Amino acid sequence: MTIYLINPSHVSFGIGVITPRWLYVLASATPADFGELRLIDETLNSFDTAAITAGDIVGIGIHTGNALRGYEIGTAARAAGAYVVFGGIHATLYPDEARDLGGAHAVVTGDGEQAWPMALRDCASGRPRPQYDGGRIEGDKFLPGRWDLLPAGRYMWASVQTVRGCPKHCSFCSVWRTDGQRPRQRYVEGVLEEIVDLRRRGFRFIALADDNFYPVTLDDLRMAARRQDSSQLERLEAIRAERFALMEALAGLPSDTVFFTQITMEAAEDPEFLEAMRRAHIKGALVGVEAVTPEGLKDVYKNFNESGEALVERLRGFRRHGIHVLGSFIFGLPSDRAETFDASLTVAERAELTFAQFVMLTPFPGTLDFAAWEKSLGAEPPRVTGVPVSRHWLIPQANRPKVYMNHPVMSADEIRRRTQAVWDRFYSFRSIWSRSRGAVRSVKARLAFVLISKIYRQMYANTGIATDSARINRSARWARLMAIPCRRLFAGRPMPELQVASVRSRQKAGRMLEMLNGDLTR
Ligand code: SF4
Repeated sequence: MTIYLINPSHVSFGIGVITPRWLYVLASATPADFGELRLIDETLNSFDTAAITAGDIVGIGIHTGNALRGYEIGTAARAAGAYVVFGGIHATLYPDEARDLGGAHAVVTGDGEQAWPMALRDCASGRPRPQYDGGRIEGDKFLPGRWDLLPAGRYMWASVQTVRGCPKHCSFCSVWRTDGQRPRQRYVEGVLEEIVDLRRRGFRFIALADDNFYPVTLDDLRMAARRQDSSQLERLEAIRAERFALMEALAGLPSDTVFFTQITMEAAEDPEFLEAMRRAHIKGALVGVEAVTPEGLKDVYKNFNESGEALVERLRGFRRHGIHVLGSFIFGLPSDRAETFDASLTVAERAELTFAQFVMLTPFPGTLDFAAWEKSLGAEPPRVTGVPVSRHWLIPQANRPKVYMNHPVMSADEIRRRTQAVWDRFYSFRSIWSRSRGAVRSVKARLAFVLISKIYRQMYANTGIATDSARINRSARWARLMAIPCRRLFAGRPMPELQVASVRSRQKAGRMLEMLNGDLTR
């Protein structure tokens, strides 16, 4: 019997940017006695389902974008006589769909670490249940990835998770609804062991694949301190203390380690936190800017962000602590007007962002925006190839329209055209070259910066917001070619000798040095 874990994709690049963590985590959760385990990531190469035979067990993880390809694989696997189990965010939101259209014998909803082995056991004994509710497990139950199963030389960045859940409630995001609003943090020692494992294997660029790396803000602490009951304050302080303990442990890693994470911009108000990030080698962060006006922020329930000049200052705050920002902007908010596009580009440039992405407001399933958009379509939504657009992910790729939130004054085409123009201007050769001066030092590093910027733009702008399939295919081909030299830029030297103990002692030595420096400068 073979057990497959499959990450479906209708487009393959040969090289992956970030390791699909869930594949390797579920590999850890797979008991060794079930037979051969095969991990398939279709973002690298497409998978021929003819390999699946009767009695195999096929686990397929889907998000909305790859659900249809997942259903194709599931249907073929079931026809071949295999047991089919679906999981992932989309299957959690639409378990019936996976059964009706994807050939699922079982669907795992929520976290998979504990539910997947249960589903496996039942499939192996021929009695799968239709659903396994994985719920939201606590941080001490998070598993590391089985990185020994990684194919060599195929990914640019590794990924490690340190916290699930986000206390915010942005209207366009499903994270707080699927992963919950209570942060669930993983034990420091577990995170450190996994990172040391990855460094031994030659990964020095590692994405901290967290929902929000800064789950407790100074404002949260101030508000809790005003309450009579001190229990909330104690809880928040404990979460914050754990964050600092983690960053202190990461500080002992070899100095060429580079982490990238996702964080809210409130962290810029917290110099102590930013300083700890810098020491922990967290050199880049995706920051959801979303909108540059107070009206835009209100549109997406993100009032905790700044706008105008204060926004520029906050974003620059990251750079002052050596943290490069990938700023994420959303276009097509109800309050956006033609001038919003230029205003956003100006903020992106003035705020010294190293990278930026400009996305169009899209109703993703599981979000508040999606619920409002679905309702606005009425009982009989328009159909494409017989499928209602409210289930657009089920429309075959060649005919699938891009769906966006309706806008009061601009058409989707106008928003797309203006968004594309902002990408073009932010990523013009001249702009990238000038940004490279502030980002890196040597000419070689500046050329690498240009290459990475261009590939980033190609992978995300042209395959993400373009509607013309010829352009998408051209971009995918170009990205495929560029991905190979790009991966080499990120490859590190394997460090088989690296031990957690040596990281811990370097961390202690670093702390003593800092204390000494502090004493000498007093
Ligand atoms: S967009 Fe970011 S801050 Fe907002 S809910 Fe999602 S994860 Fe949290």
